[in-house]
Amino acid sequence: MTVFMVGAECPMRCVYCDLWQHTLDERTPEGALAAQLEVALARLDDRGWPLSDTRVKLYNASNFFEPRAVPDRDAMAIADRMRGARRVVVESHPGLLGQRCQRFAERLASGDTRLEVAMGLETAHPKALRQMRKGADLDDFAKAAQWLREREIALRIFLLVGVPFIDQGDQVAWLERSVERACALGAERIALIPTRATVPEMKALASAGAFEPPTLALVEQALEAAWSVVDGVSQDVMVSVDPWDLELLAAGVPDGARRIARLQQIAASRR
Ligand code: SF4
Repeated sequence: MTVFMVGAECPMRCVYCDLWQHTLDERTPEGALAAQLEVALARLDDRGWPLSDTRVKLYNASNFFEPRAVPDRDAMAIADRMRGARRVVVESHPGLLGQRCQRFAERLASGDTRLEVAMGLETAHPKALRQMRKGADLDDFAKAAQWLREREIALRIFLLVGVPFIDQGDQVAWLERSVERACALGAERIALIPTRATVPEMKALASAGAFEPPTLALVEQALEAAWSVVDGVSQDVMVSVDPWDLELLAAGVPDGARRIARLQQIAASRR
């Protein structure tokens, strides 16, 4: 189950990010996220799905351990409500891991629920990572992954397909290196995220020739390449394409709808 919750905007300013469009301008009001979760859980009940069989992804279009976005009281209330779920997945920037994350993980673990943290590594290309204003370098990701490993918190990694500042002809080769890096960090799941020219910064980069939006063919090629890399490393790492806005890639593409449906089906089977 993926729960889309509305809260405060992320304080970081990654150049490719369009998630702020789905956030509030002000601090998340206390109690708002816990209340939103209750609505989602009621739907789960309606469908007769037991929480103990459910992986729950809590998606707040920001960082879960950023206190303006997720007040401490809500985080603890959410952890209490999620105890007993098969797994809980939240997103965090590597620089925001720390005591809040640890407390949340411990509260879940007291109900036998494992926490999985998703981090946006985006690419292993050090210069592009810097140019995208990620606010973290490859060493920061390595330290964050180790911190999670030491606390038995699972790791999911997001990688971009169609990375700004990388030539089109080099995209797949860098994606392969990024998948290798994600595996080395100990990721159990890797989600490939096609970039979108939906914000002014990305449109400006596209006009300046520093960014080319990915095609459906590039996304498919990236997925096949990622699977090949993972096959050579570990059968346990699951790779899929994030289904968010995938339909945008189908416009004018022969057989686009069927190809998008295939990617969505793969994503659904590897959540
Ligand atoms: S850290 Fe995540 S949510 Fe924040 S700006 Fe970057 S991509 Fe967007």
